Amino acid sequence: MLKFVNLGSGSKGNASIVCDAETMILIDAGLSATQIKKRMDAVGFDLENVTAVLITHEHGDHVSGCKRLFERQQRLQFYVNPISYRALPDAFPEPHQFASRVNFFNAGDAFEIGSLKIQTIPTLHDSKSSTGFAIQNRDVALGYMTDLGAVTEDNFLALKHVDYLFMEANYDHEMLWNGPYPPFLKARVHGDRGHLCNTHSGEFINLLGNLGQLRGVMLGHLSEKNNHPEKARQTVENRLNADIDLRIASQSEPSKIVEVE
Ligand SMILES: [Zn+2]
Ligand SMILES: [Zn+2]
Repeated sequence: MLKFVNLGSGSKGNASIVCDAETMILIDAGLSATQIKKRMDAVGFDLENVTAVLITHEHGDHVSGCKRLFERQQRLQFYVNPISYRALPDAFPEPHQFASRVNFFNAGDAFEIGSLKIQTIPTLHDSKSSTGFAIQNRDVALGYMTDLGAVTEDNFLALKHVDYLFMEANYDHEMLWNGPYPPFLKARVHGDRGHLCNTHSGEFINLLGNLGQLRGVMLGHLSEKNNHPEKARQTVENRLNADIDLRIASQSEPSKIVEVE
């Protein structure tokens, strides 16, 4: 079994927990260390048990809590693409201090953290590097895909075996184009290296769902200006043929614990 909790998701900060009986890791630390601890406490998880932090990319909403977490917890190991690390060194601890606890991965690398096997999945996004993850233990597998403007065939192939998926559903087309963003920002969000709309998210989830392995999805990184939880749910649900348990991550509070069995 794997357990998954999203601690918060959206442009104001992202962090999630994945664990089994032996290993607990954090994906992204884009909330403050205080918020991460508080939200973990709220779902009955202990920050002290986290041994590693996987970083998707260097945007502030994914790394703003890194430095403080690093100082607070001596045994924490960090896993990050070196391109993202070099793009925003201020977000991370000083290199000399960081060296013994940083683990660089390149796009497409696979490695192990305790009982968890991590497959990195290159994604399309307007950061210097951007990574999704497929995480599995001996029982089940979970996919984590956020901050991507488009999905690729390679993304699909890397996630064929997952039982559960955290998937970005950032915006609704109409809300984006009729919404308050200036034109350049609308174009950025909509672009192939921006964020994923509800429709494309739903179509991708349906492709995976049709394989028969995927049983549940949590939609994440919903825009507060250009999306609405019910809109995201409806748009994705309308595209699904398979019976898939759909949940929506919130910016302000942790999700319930998902047990992937
Ligand atoms: Zn983001
Ligand atoms: Zn981003």
